[in-house]
Amino acid sequence: MTSITMDGVSKYFDGGETVANYRLNLEVDDGEFLVILGPSGCGKTTALRLVAGLEEPSEGDIYFDDERVNRWSPSERNVAMVFQNYALYPHMSVRENIAYPLKVRGIPPDERDRRIEEVTELLHIEGQIGKRPAALSGGQRQRVALARAIVREPSVFLLDEPLSNLDAKLRQEMRSELKRLQDELGITTIYVTHNQEEAMSMADTVVVMNRGTIQQISPPEELYSRPRTEWVARFIGSPPMNLFEGERRNGSIAIGEAGTVDLESVAGVRGIDATSTSTSTSASASASLSDDLSLGVRPEDLFLSSERPTSGNALEGTVDTVEPLGEYTLVNVAVDDRLVKVKVGDADVTRGEEVWLTFDDEDAYLYDENGELV
Ligand code: ADP
Ligand code: MG
Repeated sequence: MTSITMDGVSKYFDGGETVANYRLNLEVDDGEFLVILGPSGCGKTTALRLVAGLEEPSEGDIYFDDERVNRWSPSERNVAMVFQNYALYPHMSVRENIAYPLKVRGIPPDERDRRIEEVTELLHIEGQIGKRPAALSGGQRQRVALARAIVREPSVFLLDEPLSNLDAKLRQEMRSELKRLQDELGITTIYVTHNQEEAMSMADTVVVMNRGTIQQISPPEELYSRPRTEWVARFIGSPPMNLFEGERRNGSIAIGEAGTVDLESVAGVRGIDATSTSTSTSASASASLSDDLSLGVRPEDLFLSSERPTSGNALEGTVDTVEPLGEYTLVNVAVDDRLVKVKVGDADVTRGEEVWLTFDDEDAYLYDENGELV
Protein backbone atom coordinates (compact mmCIF):
# COMPACT_ATOMS: atom_id res chain seq x y z
CA MET A 1 0.00 0.00 0.00
CA THR A 2 1.11 3.49 -0.76
CA SER A 3 0.88 7.06 0.45
CA ILE A 4 1.63 9.91 -1.93
CA THR A 5 3.27 13.26 -1.24
CA MET A 6 3.63 16.23 -3.57
CA ASP A 7 6.18 18.66 -2.22
CA GLY A 8 6.17 22.05 -3.94
CA VAL A 9 5.42 20.53 -7.31
CA SER A 10 5.08 22.84 -10.30
CA LYS A 11 4.59 22.01 -13.95
CA TYR A 12 5.30 24.52 -16.68
CA PHE A 13 4.69 24.08 -20.39
CA ASP A 14 5.76 26.13 -23.42
CA GLY A 15 9.04 27.20 -21.88
CA GLY A 16 7.35 28.44 -18.72
CA GLU A 17 4.61 30.41 -20.44
CA THR A 18 1.88 28.01 -19.31
CA VAL A 19 1.72 27.30 -15.60
CA ALA A 20 -0.37 24.14 -15.29
CA ASN A 21 0.46 23.50 -11.61
CA TYR A 22 2.11 25.87 -9.18
CA ARG A 23 3.82 24.68 -6.00
CA LEU A 24 1.38 21.97 -5.08
CA ASN A 25 1.72 20.57 -1.58
CA LEU A 26 -0.41 17.56 -1.07
CA GLU A 27 -0.51 14.40 0.98
CA VAL A 28 -2.61 11.39 0.20
CA ASP A 29 -2.74 8.80 2.96
CA ASP A 30 -2.51 5.12 2.35
CA GLY A 31 -5.99 3.91 1.35
CA GLU A 32 -7.45 7.40 1.15
CA PHE A 33 -9.96 8.53 -1.48
CA LEU A 34 -8.82 12.01 -2.46
CA VAL A 35 -10.71 14.12 -4.99
CA ILE A 36 -9.21 17.00 -6.92
CA LEU A 37 -12.02 19.40 -7.79
CA GLY A 38 -11.80 22.45 -10.02
CA PRO A 39 -13.00 24.06 -13.23
CA SER A 40 -11.78 23.03 -16.64
CA GLY A 41 -8.20 24.08 -17.30
CA CYS A 42 -7.20 24.49 -13.64
CA GLY A 43 -4.54 21.79 -13.82
CA LYS A 44 -6.26 18.66 -12.54
CA THR A 45 -5.19 16.31 -15.32
CA THR A 46 -1.63 17.56 -15.20
CA ALA A 47 -1.47 16.92 -11.45
CA LEU A 48 -2.71 13.37 -12.02
CA ARG A 49 -0.25 12.78 -14.87
CA LEU A 50 2.56 13.93 -12.59
CA VAL A 51 1.56 11.34 -10.01
CA ALA A 52 1.25 8.72 -12.74
CA GLY A 53 4.71 9.47 -14.07
CA LEU A 54 3.43 10.60 -17.45
CA GLU A 55 4.87 14.06 -16.78
CA GLU A 56 8.01 15.07 -14.92
CA PRO A 57 7.78 17.97 -12.42
CA SER A 58 9.38 21.27 -13.47
CA GLU A 59 10.18 21.77 -9.80
CA GLY A 60 9.44 20.01 -6.54
CA ASP A 61 9.32 16.36 -5.56
CA ILE A 62 6.86 13.51 -5.61
CA TYR A 63 7.11 10.69 -3.09
CA PHE A 64 5.45 7.31 -2.93
CA ASP A 65 5.82 6.40 0.73
CA ASP A 66 9.36 7.57 1.46
CA GLU A 67 10.71 7.05 -2.04
CA ARG A 68 11.26 10.01 -4.32
CA VAL A 69 9.70 8.90 -7.61
CA ASN A 70 10.30 11.97 -9.82
CA ARG A 71 12.10 9.89 -12.41
CA TRP A 72 10.27 6.62 -12.02
CA SER A 73 8.37 5.37 -15.05
CA PRO A 74 4.61 4.78 -14.79
CA SER A 75 5.11 1.01 -14.61
CA GLU A 76 7.68 1.32 -11.82
CA ARG A 77 5.10 3.32 -9.86
CA ASN A 78 2.49 0.60 -10.29
CA VAL A 79 -0.35 3.02 -10.88
CA ALA A 80 -3.54 2.35 -12.80
CA MET A 81 -5.19 5.24 -14.57
CA VAL A 82 -8.69 5.47 -16.00
CA PHE A 83 -9.56 8.37 -18.26
CA GLN A 84 -12.78 9.94 -19.42
CA ASN A 85 -12.28 8.43 -22.86
CA TYR A 86 -11.40 4.95 -21.75
CA ALA A 87 -10.50 2.92 -24.80
CA LEU A 88 -11.36 -0.77 -24.79
CA TYR A 89 -9.95 -2.98 -27.52
CA PRO A 90 -12.94 -3.31 -29.88
CA HIS A 91 -11.86 -6.60 -31.42
CA MET A 92 -11.43 -8.31 -28.04
CA SER A 93 -14.11 -9.72 -25.77
CA VAL A 94 -14.63 -8.28 -22.30
CA ARG A 95 -12.66 -11.18 -20.84
CA GLU A 96 -9.76 -10.61 -23.25
CA ASN A 97 -9.79 -6.89 -22.52
CA ILE A 98 -9.49 -7.51 -18.80
CA ALA A 99 -6.93 -10.29 -19.26
CA TYR A 100 -4.69 -8.19 -21.48
CA PRO A 101 -2.72 -6.26 -18.81
CA LEU A 102 -2.15 -9.55 -16.96
CA LYS A 103 -0.90 -11.29 -20.10
CA VAL A 104 1.50 -8.44 -20.79
CA ARG A 105 2.90 -8.89 -17.30
CA GLY A 106 3.28 -12.62 -17.79
CA ILE A 107 0.79 -13.66 -15.10
CA PRO A 108 0.08 -17.39 -15.53
CA PRO A 109 -3.36 -18.43 -16.89
CA ASP A 110 -4.83 -19.89 -13.69
CA GLU A 111 -3.89 -16.80 -11.66
CA ARG A 112 -5.32 -14.70 -14.50
CA ASP A 113 -8.62 -16.60 -14.35
CA ARG A 114 -8.85 -16.19 -10.60
CA ARG A 115 -8.31 -12.44 -10.75
CA ILE A 116 -10.70 -11.95 -13.68
CA GLU A 117 -13.41 -13.83 -11.84
CA GLU A 118 -12.84 -11.66 -8.78
CA VAL A 119 -13.00 -8.28 -10.54
CA THR A 120 -15.90 -9.15 -12.83
CA GLU A 121 -17.87 -10.18 -9.76
CA LEU A 122 -16.84 -7.03 -7.91
CA LEU A 123 -18.02 -4.87 -10.81
CA HIS A 124 -21.12 -6.95 -11.64
CA ILE A 125 -20.10 -7.74 -15.19
CA GLU A 126 -19.86 -11.54 -14.94
CA GLY A 127 -22.67 -11.83 -17.48
CA GLN A 128 -20.89 -9.72 -20.08
CA ILE A 129 -17.52 -11.37 -20.34
CA GLY A 130 -18.13 -13.08 -23.68
CA LYS A 131 -19.31 -9.89 -25.38
CA ARG A 132 -17.45 -7.36 -27.49
CA PRO A 133 -17.38 -3.73 -26.21
CA ALA A 134 -19.76 -2.63 -29.01
CA ALA A 135 -22.49 -4.82 -27.50
CA LEU A 136 -22.26 -3.10 -24.09
CA SER A 137 -23.97 -0.02 -22.66
CA GLY A 138 -21.88 3.01 -21.68
CA GLY A 139 -22.04 2.06 -18.02
CA GLN A 140 -20.98 -1.52 -18.68
CA ARG A 141 -18.07 -0.34 -20.80
CA GLN A 142 -16.93 1.94 -18.02
CA ARG A 143 -17.11 -1.00 -15.58
CA VAL A 144 -14.92 -3.05 -17.92
CA ALA A 145 -12.41 -0.19 -18.08
CA LEU A 146 -12.34 -0.08 -14.28
CA ALA A 147 -12.00 -3.86 -14.09
CA ARG A 148 -9.09 -3.78 -16.51
CA ALA A 149 -7.41 -1.13 -14.36
CA ILE A 150 -7.82 -2.83 -10.98
CA VAL A 151 -7.18 -6.39 -12.13
CA ARG A 152 -3.45 -5.57 -12.03
CA GLU A 153 -3.79 -4.85 -8.32
CA PRO A 154 -2.15 -1.43 -8.57
CA SER A 155 -0.85 0.39 -5.49
CA VAL A 156 -2.43 3.63 -6.67
CA PHE A 157 -5.61 4.22 -8.59
CA LEU A 158 -5.88 7.41 -10.66
CA LEU A 159 -9.20 8.40 -12.18
CA ASP A 160 -9.60 11.36 -14.51
CA GLU A 161 -13.26 12.37 -14.84
CA PRO A 162 -14.16 8.71 -15.48
CA LEU A 163 -17.92 9.28 -15.33
CA SER A 164 -18.33 12.40 -17.41
CA ASN A 165 -19.39 10.54 -20.54
CA LEU A 166 -22.27 8.81 -18.78
CA ASP A 167 -25.79 10.15 -18.40
CA ALA A 168 -26.85 11.71 -15.09
CA LYS A 169 -28.64 8.69 -13.65
CA LEU A 170 -25.86 6.27 -14.48
CA ARG A 171 -23.28 8.69 -13.19
CA GLN A 172 -24.99 8.74 -9.82
CA GLU A 173 -25.18 4.95 -9.73
CA MET A 174 -21.53 4.49 -10.72
CA ARG A 175 -20.49 7.12 -8.20
CA SER A 176 -21.71 5.04 -5.25
CA GLU A 177 -20.35 1.85 -6.82
CA LEU A 178 -16.93 3.36 -7.26
CA LYS A 179 -16.97 4.49 -3.68
CA ARG A 180 -17.92 0.99 -2.51
CA LEU A 181 -15.25 -0.54 -4.71
CA GLN A 182 -12.57 1.72 -3.31
CA ASP A 183 -13.73 0.99 0.24
CA GLU A 184 -13.48 -2.74 -0.38
CA LEU A 185 -10.11 -2.62 -2.12
CA GLY A 186 -8.59 0.08 0.09
CA ILE A 187 -6.42 1.31 -2.77
CA THR A 188 -5.03 4.83 -2.44
CA THR A 189 -7.09 6.76 -4.98
CA ILE A 190 -6.93 10.18 -6.60
CA TYR A 191 -10.07 11.09 -8.47
CA VAL A 192 -10.29 14.18 -10.63
CA THR A 193 -13.56 15.93 -11.44
CA HIS A 194 -15.10 19.32 -12.16
CA ASN A 195 -18.38 18.10 -10.65
CA GLN A 196 -18.76 19.15 -7.02
CA GLU A 197 -21.56 16.73 -6.24
CA GLU A 198 -19.32 13.88 -7.36
CA ALA A 199 -16.47 15.24 -5.28
CA MET A 200 -18.52 15.77 -2.15
CA SER A 201 -20.21 12.39 -2.31
CA MET A 202 -17.10 10.25 -2.78
CA ALA A 203 -14.16 11.99 -1.17
CA ASP A 204 -12.50 11.48 2.18
CA THR A 205 -10.62 14.66 1.32
CA VAL A 206 -11.31 17.27 -1.35
CA VAL A 207 -8.60 19.42 -2.90
CA VAL A 208 -10.04 22.48 -4.61
CA MET A 209 -7.89 23.85 -7.41
CA ASN A 210 -8.04 27.08 -9.34
CA ARG A 211 -5.56 28.25 -11.97
CA GLY A 212 -2.93 25.72 -11.09
CA THR A 213 -2.97 26.37 -7.36
CA ILE A 214 -4.58 24.68 -4.39
CA GLN A 215 -7.30 26.80 -2.79
CA GLN A 216 -8.36 24.47 -0.01
CA ILE A 217 -7.80 20.95 1.25
CA SER A 218 -10.49 19.66 3.59
CA PRO A 219 -13.10 17.02 4.26
CA PRO A 220 -16.15 17.56 2.00
CA GLU A 221 -18.38 18.95 4.78
CA GLU A 222 -15.85 21.61 5.64
CA LEU A 223 -15.73 22.84 2.07
CA TYR A 224 -19.34 23.81 2.49
CA SER A 225 -19.29 24.91 6.11
CA ARG A 226 -15.99 26.74 6.02
CA PRO A 227 -14.86 27.87 2.54
CA ARG A 228 -11.46 29.33 3.22
CA THR A 229 -11.32 31.68 0.25
CA GLU A 230 -13.86 33.80 -1.55
CA TRP A 231 -13.10 31.85 -4.69
CA VAL A 232 -14.10 28.56 -3.02
CA ALA A 233 -17.21 30.25 -1.60
CA ARG A 234 -18.24 31.26 -5.10
CA PHE A 235 -17.52 27.77 -6.44
CA ILE A 236 -19.17 25.46 -3.91
CA GLY A 237 -22.94 25.13 -3.47
CA SER A 238 -25.82 25.13 -5.85
CA PRO A 239 -26.34 27.94 -6.37
CA PRO A 240 -23.17 29.09 -4.63
CA MET A 241 -22.81 31.66 -1.87
CA ASN A 242 -23.96 35.26 -2.44
CA LEU A 243 -21.16 37.72 -1.86
CA PHE A 244 -21.76 41.37 -1.09
CA GLU A 245 -19.00 43.88 -1.54
CA GLY A 246 -18.85 45.94 1.58
CA GLU A 247 -16.94 48.79 3.08
CA ARG A 248 -15.85 48.79 6.67
CA ARG A 249 -17.14 51.74 8.67
CA ASN A 250 -16.07 51.54 12.29
CA GLY A 251 -18.06 48.68 13.74
CA SER A 252 -20.15 47.87 10.70
CA ILE A 253 -19.96 46.98 7.03
CA ALA A 254 -21.90 49.13 4.58
CA ILE A 255 -23.36 47.15 1.69
CA GLY A 256 -24.02 49.83 -0.95
CA GLU A 257 -27.42 51.40 -0.48
CA ALA A 258 -28.91 48.17 0.83
CA GLY A 259 -28.01 48.59 4.46
CA THR A 260 -25.32 47.99 7.00
CA VAL A 261 -24.38 44.87 8.89
CA ASP A 262 -22.89 44.90 12.33
CA LEU A 263 -19.31 43.76 11.85
CA GLU A 264 -19.03 42.52 15.40
CA SER A 265 -21.92 40.16 14.94
CA VAL A 266 -20.39 38.63 11.82
CA ALA A 267 -16.75 38.66 12.81
CA GLY A 268 -17.72 37.95 16.39
CA VAL A 269 -18.96 34.51 15.53
CA ARG A 270 -15.49 33.75 14.21
CA GLY A 271 -14.02 34.81 17.52
CA ILE A 272 -12.64 38.10 16.28
CA ASP A 273 -12.92 41.28 18.25
CA ALA A 274 -14.04 43.57 15.43
CA THR A 275 -14.36 46.78 17.39
CA SER A 276 -11.17 46.61 19.34
CA THR A 277 -8.71 49.39 18.59
CA SER A 278 -5.99 47.72 20.57
CA THR A 279 -2.54 48.01 19.06
CA SER A 280 -0.84 45.89 21.66
CA THR A 281 1.63 43.23 20.64
CA SER A 282 -1.06 40.57 20.78
CA ALA A 283 -2.30 42.33 17.64
CA SER A 284 -6.04 42.03 17.42
CA ALA A 285 -7.32 40.62 14.15
CA SER A 286 -9.36 43.73 13.53
CA ALA A 287 -6.28 45.87 13.38
CA SER A 288 -5.28 44.04 10.21
CA LEU A 289 -8.81 43.85 8.88
CA SER A 290 -9.03 45.65 5.56
CA ASP A 291 -11.58 48.33 4.72
CA ASP A 292 -12.82 46.44 1.70
CA LEU A 293 -14.57 43.30 2.81
CA SER A 294 -16.89 40.78 1.24
CA LEU A 295 -19.81 39.45 3.17
CA GLY A 296 -21.03 36.03 2.11
CA VAL A 297 -24.35 34.33 2.84
CA ARG A 298 -25.59 31.12 1.21
CA PRO A 299 -28.93 31.20 -0.68
CA GLU A 300 -30.36 28.70 1.83
CA ASP A 301 -29.40 30.90 4.78
CA LEU A 302 -31.20 34.03 3.57
CA PHE A 303 -34.81 34.74 4.53
CA LEU A 304 -37.31 37.06 2.90
CA SER A 305 -39.31 39.51 4.94
CA SER A 306 -41.81 42.02 3.59
CA GLU A 307 -41.19 44.37 6.49
CA ARG A 308 -38.04 45.86 7.83
CA PRO A 309 -37.00 43.73 10.80
CA THR A 310 -36.58 45.58 14.07
CA SER A 311 -33.34 43.82 14.90
CA GLY A 312 -30.71 41.60 13.34
CA ASN A 313 -29.05 41.74 9.94
CA ALA A 314 -31.14 43.02 7.05
CA LEU A 315 -30.52 44.21 3.51
CA GLU A 316 -33.08 45.88 1.30
CA GLY A 317 -33.92 44.68 -2.19
CA THR A 318 -36.54 44.19 -4.88
CA VAL A 319 -37.85 40.84 -6.13
CA ASP A 320 -36.66 40.34 -9.68
CA THR A 321 -37.68 36.79 -10.64
CA VAL A 322 -39.19 33.77 -8.93
CA GLU A 323 -38.15 30.30 -10.11
CA PRO A 324 -40.25 27.42 -8.73
CA LEU A 325 -37.87 24.46 -9.03
CA GLY A 326 -39.97 21.81 -7.31
CA GLU A 327 -37.64 20.90 -4.47
CA TYR A 328 -37.39 24.59 -3.56
CA THR A 329 -38.11 28.00 -5.01
CA LEU A 330 -35.28 30.28 -6.03
CA VAL A 331 -36.04 33.97 -5.64
CA ASN A 332 -33.69 36.42 -7.36
CA VAL A 333 -33.62 39.68 -5.48
CA ALA A 334 -32.04 42.83 -6.88
CA VAL A 335 -29.87 44.40 -4.19
CA ASP A 336 -28.19 47.58 -5.41
CA ASP A 337 -27.15 46.64 -8.94
CA ARG A 338 -26.80 42.90 -8.52
CA LEU A 339 -28.97 39.81 -8.15
CA VAL A 340 -28.96 37.87 -4.91
CA LYS A 341 -30.23 34.30 -4.84
CA VAL A 342 -32.52 33.18 -2.05
CA LYS A 343 -33.70 29.59 -1.61
CA VAL A 344 -37.12 29.27 -0.01
CA GLY A 345 -39.67 26.51 0.46
CA ASP A 346 -42.60 28.56 -0.74
CA ALA A 347 -42.44 32.03 -2.16
CA ASP A 348 -45.39 34.33 -1.61
CA VAL A 349 -43.63 37.22 -3.28
CA THR A 350 -43.98 38.66 -6.76
CA ARG A 351 -41.77 40.56 -9.15
CA GLY A 352 -41.26 44.18 -8.19
CA GLU A 353 -42.03 43.66 -4.51
CA GLU A 354 -39.82 45.39 -1.96
CA VAL A 355 -38.29 42.89 0.47
CA TRP A 356 -35.76 42.61 3.24
CA LEU A 357 -33.16 39.89 3.28
CA THR A 358 -32.36 38.68 6.75
CA PHE A 359 -29.82 36.17 8.03
CA ASP A 360 -28.33 34.88 11.24
CA ASP A 361 -24.88 36.01 12.32
CA GLU A 362 -23.48 32.51 12.33
CA ASP A 363 -24.49 32.00 8.69
CA ALA A 364 -22.43 34.92 7.44
CA TYR A 365 -18.85 34.75 6.18
CA LEU A 366 -16.40 37.57 5.94
CA TYR A 367 -13.57 37.70 3.41
CA ASP A 368 -10.78 40.26 3.41
CA GLU A 369 -9.45 42.14 0.40
CA ASN A 370 -7.20 39.18 -0.45
CA GLY A 371 -10.22 36.92 -0.55
CA GLU A 372 -9.19 35.07 2.62
CA LEU A 373 -11.74 34.05 5.23
CA VAL A 374 -11.52 36.41 8.21
P1 ADP B 1 -7.78 20.34 -16.31
O1 ADP B 1 -7.56 18.87 -16.34
O2 ADP B 1 -8.09 20.87 -14.95
O3 ADP B 1 -8.81 20.78 -17.31
P2 ADP B 1 -5.12 20.50 -17.44
O4 ADP B 1 -4.19 19.92 -16.44
O5 ADP B 1 -5.49 19.66 -18.59
O6 ADP B 1 -6.41 21.07 -16.72
O7 ADP B 1 -4.46 21.83 -18.03
C1 ADP B 1 -3.97 22.87 -17.22
C2 ADP B 1 -3.31 23.92 -18.10
O8 ADP B 1 -2.12 23.40 -18.66
C3 ADP B 1 -4.16 24.36 -19.26
O9 ADP B 1 -3.93 25.71 -19.48
C4 ADP B 1 -3.64 23.52 -20.41
O10 ADP B 1 -3.86 24.16 -21.63
C5 ADP B 1 -2.17 23.42 -20.07
N1 ADP B 1 -1.56 22.18 -20.58
C6 ADP B 1 -1.83 20.93 -20.18
N2 ADP B 1 -1.07 20.02 -20.84
C7 ADP B 1 -0.29 20.74 -21.69
C8 ADP B 1 0.73 20.40 -22.65
N3 ADP B 1 1.08 19.14 -22.85
N4 ADP B 1 1.30 21.41 -23.32
C9 ADP B 1 0.96 22.70 -23.10
N5 ADP B 1 0.03 23.09 -22.22
C10 ADP B 1 -0.59 22.14 -21.52
MG1 MG C 1 -8.63 17.38 -17.38
